[in-house]
Amino acid sequence: MKRKVLLVEDNPQNRYLITFLLEKSGYEVVVAEDGEAAVEAVPEHRPDIILMDVQLPKIDGYEATRRIKADERFSSIPVLALTAHSMKGDRVKALQAGCDDYITKPVDIDVLLRRIQEVLEGSSSDPLPS
Ligand code: MN
Repeated sequence: MKRKVLLVEDNPQNRYLITFLLEKSGYEVVVAEDGEAAVEAVPEHRPDIILMDVQLPKIDGYEATRRIKADERFSSIPVLALTAHSMKGDRVKALQAGCDDYITKPVDIDVLLRRIQEVLEGSSSDPLPS
């Protein structure tokens, strides 16, 4: 069975590109274009993993993650934050919000695919790279 990724990204170009590459790699992809839509998409689609842009309309990716993680039905779904490369504070905030890990943008698709695979295989007990 295909693993389902919820991709939360407000930038249409990034959304299409990442969706295309994930589908090509065998994942089922559902998308949300803002933080509220992300929170609503979780019970609807029950994703295996969530890729969460942090800068989003309505509610940002931190708040969306906090709301998802606050619901015990969904708190075990891994969330990978997509953070701006230059914004080191974003990564700290992402982890504080409950994100399991982060990937810096612009997204390197090989890094992204490897990280998704690692998280889905449950190697989350490994320490985060510093
Ligand atoms: Mn954004």
